[in-house]
Amino acid sequence: MADEENAPEEEAKVEAPEEEDALKEGEEDSEEDNQEESPEEPQEVEGEEGKAKPKAKAKAKAKKPVIDCPKPEPKKTLKQFQKEREKEKEEKLKQKEEKEKKKKTPEEPPAEEPPPEEKPNAEESKKKKKEKIKKEPVVYRRLDWTFYPTLCEIYNWMDVIIEKRPKIVTDFEIGRSYEGRLIRGLKLSFKTGNKAIFIESNIHAREWITSSSATCMVMELLFSEDPDVRRTAEGIDWYILPVFNVDGFVYSQEKERLWRKSRKPSKGKKTPECIGVDLNRNFNHQWGLIKHEPCSEQYGGTAAESEPEVKQLARFIGTITDLKVYIALHAAGQAVITPWSYTKEELPEGHKEMMEVAKAFVESAYPRFRTRYIYGAAAEILNVGEFCGTSTDWAYAVKNIPISLGIELPGKGRNKPFELPTESILRVSIELLDGFVGLIKAVGELGIIEKIPEPPKKEIKPKYERPKKAPKTTDEEEKPESKQVTD
Ligand SMILES: [Zn+2]
Repeated sequence: MADEENAPEEEAKVEAPEEEDALKEGEEDSEEDNQEESPEEPQEVEGEEGKAKPKAKAKAKAKKPVIDCPKPEPKKTLKQFQKEREKEKEEKLKQKEEKEKKKKTPEEPPAEEPPPEEKPNAEESKKKKKEKIKKEPVVYRRLDWTFYPTLCEIYNWMDVIIEKRPKIVTDFEIGRSYEGRLIRGLKLSFKTGNKAIFIESNIHAREWITSSSATCMVMELLFSEDPDVRRTAEGIDWYILPVFNVDGFVYSQEKERLWRKSRKPSKGKKTPECIGVDLNRNFNHQWGLIKHEPCSEQYGGTAAESEPEVKQLARFIGTITDLKVYIALHAAGQAVITPWSYTKEELPEGHKEMMEVAKAFVESAYPRFRTRYIYGAAAEILNVGEFCGTSTDWAYAVKNIPISLGIELPGKGRNKPFELPTESILRVSIELLDGFVGLIKAVGELGIIEKIPEPPKKEIKPKYERPKKAPKTTDEEEKPESKQVTD
């Protein structure tokens, strides 16, 4: 794994101080306007003539919750470090001197004084501690795929990556989530004229392995020296969205590990306590064909694209030119799934091609750790049966993206399939990359993108030359030559 950044390594995680307030705002917001709209929408409804409107607009703007990751401490210069060291030394010296002074002049210990002082001070010191925590600079852990990072740690890592490879990596924003978090991704482009792939990840909050694998893949695509990986990386433009369901992801990390949906409260009068929509049931293809109650894990929302996250992603996908491959990362079925999700009764026109690509992934992911993925149409091979309004069905049918697959990362068969131990992150990620090498190659062979060139075969040169066996080789070599001469 390439060493990607210089960020401090401490494990401290400091929350955004505004977070709680912003959440409360979000809750209030939801009670008032029933159909949550995409955050940009109200701003577009500007009345040209209406002078009374700005107030309403300002009100609407003020209501919009925003949760941004606190900025990490800027890197210190050597001089700053030296100054800090000197200060520390001075302080220590002072403390020493004071201690020595006290030793020299032994006073009667103020035995009765401390207790009354401590009591009133206890609250104050608590307050001070709280203030300190608030003021303490934010330090993010450096991603090394031995732990599951927080959303802000992923975003911080993204900033570092962009800084390291500004010519290749750019970031993109889908928009803001219901609770006000930015939904951010990275685009990797090594050359102009490439077709594009979009990788959507962590649409289901608890599937943490997907965002970890997606970020790990970015690192490998950028820094791996393996010729197969290099050709794969450079043969297509990569749009990688590590965490799509940002609200759910944060909730799953902070409150409820197995949370799956988004975090928008449902408005149904019967079940006002239900929160969240399964975003992978909210896309505008065969939406609502199979109905679920608001409290269900698979609740698809009040209408197709009713969720701000989905609506904005759909809009963003529409802006990518030459998008030929759509991949949704999930856990934990250890499978590659092709459309359709919504029915077993028929198969899409491009079924054969997609199965070929799925097979290439499965075969290419196998050898390193002998992990056997299965593949087939989603509605058939997953144990959940048919399900509708999925991103992969939508990408294929509505956006006409010829290859649209879901990749279910491993986890099935375990006691806790969604809680893959951190020791497995690297294995799963590298396996995923192996699979992608085969997948992209197969897409090239189908003529959907430019064919990925084969890496030149390694010439294995012997360390020492064997002495030639004189009679045979010389005979064979000389014969044609002598023929030529005679002819
Ligand atoms: Zn999933």
